Amino acid sequence: MKTSSNATTRTRRERPSKASKERADGAPDSTRLIVDAITTAVVEHRLAPGAKLTEQTLAGIYGVSRTIVRQALYQLARDHLVTLAPGRGAFIATPSVDEARQVFSVRRHLEQYLVEEFCGKAASADVRALREHVRREQAALGKPDVRGRTHLLGDFHVLMAQRLGLDVLSELLSELISRCALVALMYQSSRAAQHSSDEHLQILDALEARDTPRAKALMEAHLRATEDSLLYHPRTPSIDLREVLGQSR
Ligand SMILES: [Zn+2]
Repeated sequence: MKTSSNATTRTRRERPSKASKERADGAPDSTRLIVDAITTAVVEHRLAPGAKLTEQTLAGIYGVSRTIVRQALYQLARDHLVTLAPGRGAFIATPSVDEARQVFSVRRHLEQYLVEEFCGKAASADVRALREHVRREQAALGKPDVRGRTHLLGDFHVLMAQRLGLDVLSELLSELISRCALVALMYQSSRAAQHSSDEHLQILDALEARDTPRAKALMEAHLRATEDSLLYHPRTPSIDLREVLGQSR
Protein backbone atom coordinates (compact mmCIF):
# COMPACT_ATOMS: atom_id res chain seq x y z
CA MET A 1 0.00 0.00 0.00
CA LYS A 2 1.85 3.05 -1.24
CA THR A 3 -0.81 5.71 -1.26
CA SER A 4 -0.45 8.83 0.85
CA SER A 5 -1.82 7.88 4.21
CA ASN A 6 -2.90 11.35 5.04
CA ALA A 7 -5.09 11.55 1.99
CA THR A 8 -6.50 8.12 2.81
CA THR A 9 -7.37 8.70 6.44
CA ARG A 10 -8.60 12.20 5.71
CA THR A 11 -10.99 11.02 3.07
CA ARG A 12 -12.32 8.32 5.34
CA ARG A 13 -12.74 10.57 8.36
CA GLU A 14 -14.01 13.72 6.81
CA ARG A 15 -16.11 12.48 3.97
CA PRO A 16 -19.42 14.23 4.67
CA SER A 17 -22.08 11.52 4.55
CA LYS A 18 -24.73 12.13 1.87
CA ALA A 19 -23.04 15.44 1.13
CA SER A 20 -23.08 15.01 -2.64
CA LYS A 21 -26.85 14.59 -2.66
CA GLU A 22 -27.34 17.78 -0.65
CA ARG A 23 -24.92 20.00 -2.51
CA ALA A 24 -27.65 21.86 -4.38
CA ASP A 25 -29.04 23.48 -1.23
CA GLY A 26 -25.65 24.28 0.28
CA ALA A 27 -25.97 21.68 3.03
CA PRO A 28 -22.31 20.63 3.17
CA ASP A 29 -21.17 24.19 3.87
CA SER A 30 -23.71 24.65 6.66
CA THR A 31 -22.86 21.25 8.07
CA ARG A 32 -19.15 22.07 8.06
CA LEU A 33 -19.79 25.48 9.62
CA ILE A 34 -21.62 23.85 12.54
CA VAL A 35 -19.02 21.06 12.90
CA ASP A 36 -16.20 23.62 12.96
CA ALA A 37 -17.98 25.97 15.37
CA ILE A 38 -18.73 23.21 17.88
CA THR A 39 -15.21 21.73 17.55
CA THR A 40 -13.65 25.16 18.10
CA ALA A 41 -15.90 25.83 21.10
CA VAL A 42 -14.76 22.52 22.63
CA VAL A 43 -11.09 23.22 21.88
CA GLU A 44 -11.36 26.67 23.43
CA HIS A 45 -13.08 25.19 26.50
CA ARG A 46 -16.24 27.23 25.87
CA LEU A 47 -18.36 24.08 25.59
CA ALA A 48 -17.78 21.56 28.35
CA PRO A 49 -18.03 17.75 28.25
CA GLY A 50 -21.64 16.70 28.80
CA ALA A 51 -23.13 19.96 27.42
CA LYS A 52 -26.44 19.24 25.67
CA LEU A 53 -26.63 20.12 21.97
CA THR A 54 -30.29 20.86 21.29
CA GLU A 55 -31.17 20.42 17.60
CA GLN A 56 -33.82 23.14 17.70
CA THR A 57 -31.48 25.67 19.33
CA LEU A 58 -28.66 24.95 16.89
CA ALA A 59 -31.06 25.20 13.94
CA GLY A 60 -32.15 28.60 15.27
CA ILE A 61 -28.61 29.86 15.82
CA TYR A 62 -27.44 28.91 12.32
CA GLY A 63 -30.72 29.47 10.46
CA VAL A 64 -30.70 25.94 9.01
CA SER A 65 -33.02 22.93 9.07
CA ARG A 66 -32.80 20.31 11.79
CA THR A 67 -31.72 17.85 9.08
CA ILE A 68 -28.57 19.90 8.52
CA VAL A 69 -27.97 20.08 12.28
CA ARG A 70 -28.43 16.31 12.55
CA GLN A 71 -25.83 15.76 9.78
CA ALA A 72 -23.34 17.90 11.69
CA LEU A 73 -24.04 15.97 14.89
CA TYR A 74 -23.55 12.61 13.10
CA GLN A 75 -20.22 13.82 11.75
CA LEU A 76 -19.12 14.94 15.23
CA ALA A 77 -20.28 11.61 16.68
CA ARG A 78 -18.16 9.73 14.13
CA ASP A 79 -15.13 11.67 15.40
CA HIS A 80 -16.12 10.72 18.99
CA LEU A 81 -16.62 14.39 19.90
CA VAL A 82 -20.37 14.05 20.39
CA THR A 83 -22.43 11.28 21.99
CA LEU A 84 -25.85 10.55 20.50
CA ALA A 85 -28.17 9.18 23.19
CA PRO A 86 -31.36 7.64 21.73
CA GLY A 87 -34.39 9.51 23.04
CA ARG A 88 -32.26 12.03 24.93
CA GLY A 89 -30.44 13.88 22.18
CA ALA A 90 -26.85 14.88 21.55
CA PHE A 91 -24.18 15.81 24.08
CA ILE A 92 -20.55 16.84 23.97
CA ALA A 93 -18.80 13.56 24.74
CA THR A 94 -17.48 13.10 28.24
CA PRO A 95 -13.92 11.91 27.86
CA SER A 96 -13.17 9.18 30.32
CA VAL A 97 -9.65 9.33 31.72
CA ASP A 98 -9.80 5.62 32.40
CA GLU A 99 -10.74 4.88 28.78
CA ALA A 100 -7.94 7.14 27.53
CA ARG A 101 -5.47 5.27 29.75
CA GLN A 102 -6.62 1.94 28.37
CA VAL A 103 -6.29 3.25 24.84
CA PHE A 104 -2.71 4.38 25.46
CA SER A 105 -1.85 1.09 27.11
CA VAL A 106 -3.05 -0.88 24.08
CA ARG A 107 -1.32 1.55 21.73
CA ARG A 108 2.01 1.15 23.51
CA HIS A 109 1.93 -2.59 22.90
CA LEU A 110 0.80 -2.35 19.28
CA GLU A 111 3.31 0.34 18.45
CA GLN A 112 6.26 -1.59 19.87
CA TYR A 113 5.38 -4.33 17.40
CA LEU A 114 4.90 -1.73 14.66
CA VAL A 115 8.37 -0.23 15.26
CA GLU A 116 9.96 -3.69 15.07
CA GLU A 117 8.18 -4.43 11.82
CA PHE A 118 9.11 -1.06 10.37
CA CYS A 119 12.80 -1.41 11.22
CA GLY A 120 12.84 -4.88 9.71
CA LYS A 121 10.81 -4.35 6.56
CA ALA A 122 10.54 -0.68 5.55
CA ALA A 123 12.06 0.52 2.26
CA SER A 124 13.72 3.90 1.92
CA ALA A 125 10.60 5.17 0.14
CA ASP A 126 8.63 4.43 3.33
CA VAL A 127 11.06 6.51 5.39
CA ARG A 128 10.78 9.33 2.83
CA ALA A 129 6.98 9.22 3.08
CA LEU A 130 7.19 9.60 6.86
CA ARG A 131 9.60 12.53 6.48
CA GLU A 132 7.19 14.22 4.12
CA HIS A 133 4.42 13.66 6.65
CA VAL A 134 6.41 15.20 9.51
CA ARG A 135 7.06 18.22 7.27
CA ARG A 136 3.29 18.65 6.97
CA GLU A 137 2.93 18.34 10.76
CA GLN A 138 5.50 21.03 11.35
CA ALA A 139 3.78 23.31 8.84
CA ALA A 140 0.43 22.78 10.58
CA LEU A 141 1.79 23.63 14.04
CA GLY A 142 1.71 27.37 13.48
CA LYS A 143 -1.87 27.39 12.22
CA PRO A 144 -5.09 27.81 14.21
CA ASP A 145 -6.67 24.58 12.84
CA VAL A 146 -6.33 22.43 15.98
CA ARG A 147 -8.51 19.66 14.55
CA GLY A 148 -6.33 19.35 11.45
CA ARG A 149 -3.19 19.39 13.59
CA THR A 150 -4.55 16.67 15.88
CA HIS A 151 -5.40 14.46 12.90
CA LEU A 152 -1.94 14.93 11.38
CA LEU A 153 -0.18 13.98 14.62
CA GLY A 154 -2.22 10.78 14.87
CA ASP A 155 -1.76 10.00 11.19
CA PHE A 156 2.01 9.66 11.65
CA HIS A 157 1.42 6.42 13.54
CA VAL A 158 -1.24 5.16 11.15
CA LEU A 159 1.02 5.94 8.18
CA MET A 160 3.79 3.70 9.55
CA ALA A 161 1.39 0.75 9.51
CA GLN A 162 -0.07 1.67 6.13
CA ARG A 163 3.34 1.90 4.48
CA LEU A 164 4.03 -1.70 5.51
CA GLY A 165 0.63 -2.87 4.25
CA LEU A 166 -0.44 -3.73 7.81
CA ASP A 167 -4.07 -2.82 7.15
CA VAL A 168 -5.56 -4.40 10.26
CA LEU A 169 -3.06 -2.64 12.49
CA SER A 170 -3.58 0.69 10.75
CA GLU A 171 -7.37 0.41 11.22
CA LEU A 172 -6.96 -0.51 14.89
CA LEU A 173 -4.63 2.44 15.46
CA SER A 174 -7.01 4.82 13.66
CA GLU A 175 -9.84 3.69 15.88
CA LEU A 176 -7.79 3.95 19.07
CA ILE A 177 -6.48 7.40 18.19
CA SER A 178 -9.93 8.67 17.29
CA ARG A 179 -11.32 7.44 20.64
CA CYS A 180 -8.99 9.94 22.31
CA ALA A 181 -9.80 12.77 19.90
CA LEU A 182 -11.82 14.81 22.37
CA VAL A 183 -9.20 14.46 25.08
CA ALA A 184 -6.51 15.46 22.59
CA LEU A 185 -8.47 18.40 21.21
CA MET A 186 -9.31 19.78 24.64
CA TYR A 187 -6.08 19.24 26.46
CA GLN A 188 -3.22 19.23 23.98
CA SER A 189 -1.45 22.59 24.14
CA SER A 190 0.31 23.89 21.02
CA ARG A 191 3.58 23.44 22.93
CA ALA A 192 2.80 19.77 23.56
CA ALA A 193 1.91 19.38 19.88
CA GLN A 194 5.28 20.86 18.88
CA HIS A 195 7.02 18.41 21.24
CA SER A 196 5.02 15.55 19.79
CA SER A 197 6.07 16.38 16.25
CA ASP A 198 9.72 16.85 17.28
CA GLU A 199 9.58 13.38 18.87
CA HIS A 200 8.26 11.99 15.59
CA LEU A 201 11.44 13.32 13.95
CA GLN A 202 13.66 11.56 16.50
CA ILE A 203 11.75 8.31 16.09
CA LEU A 204 12.10 8.68 12.34
CA ASP A 205 15.89 9.09 12.59
CA ALA A 206 16.09 5.86 14.61
CA LEU A 207 13.82 4.07 12.11
CA GLU A 208 15.97 5.25 9.22
CA ALA A 209 19.10 3.97 10.99
CA ARG A 210 17.20 0.67 11.55
CA ASP A 211 18.11 1.05 15.24
CA THR A 212 15.26 -1.07 16.63
CA PRO A 213 16.02 -0.76 20.38
CA ARG A 214 16.39 3.01 20.15
CA ALA A 215 13.26 3.43 18.00
CA LYS A 216 11.24 1.28 20.43
CA ALA A 217 12.48 3.25 23.45
CA LEU A 218 11.73 6.58 21.75
CA MET A 219 8.24 5.43 20.74
CA GLU A 220 7.49 4.24 24.28
CA ALA A 221 8.67 7.57 25.75
CA HIS A 222 6.69 9.49 23.12
CA LEU A 223 3.41 7.72 23.92
CA ARG A 224 3.92 8.09 27.67
CA ALA A 225 4.68 11.82 27.28
CA THR A 226 1.60 12.29 25.10
CA GLU A 227 -0.54 10.46 27.66
CA ASP A 228 0.82 12.55 30.53
CA SER A 229 0.32 15.83 28.67
CA LEU A 230 -3.33 14.96 28.00
CA LEU A 231 -4.57 13.40 31.19
CA TYR A 232 -3.72 15.80 34.00
CA HIS A 233 -6.09 18.71 33.56
CA PRO A 234 -9.10 20.07 35.44
CA ARG A 235 -12.61 19.93 34.00
CA THR A 236 -14.30 23.10 32.77
CA PRO A 237 -17.79 24.34 33.77
CA SER A 238 -20.87 24.07 31.53
CA ILE A 239 -21.98 27.16 29.67
CA ASP A 240 -25.19 28.04 27.85
CA LEU A 241 -25.25 26.79 24.23
CA ARG A 242 -26.86 29.92 22.77
CA GLU A 243 -24.40 32.17 24.54
CA VAL A 244 -21.37 30.16 23.33
CA LEU A 245 -22.28 29.46 19.71
CA GLY A 246 -24.55 32.46 19.09
CA GLN A 247 -21.63 34.83 19.60
CA SER A 248 -19.12 32.85 17.58
CA ARG A 249 -20.92 33.39 14.27
ZN1 LIG B 1 2.85 10.66 17.87
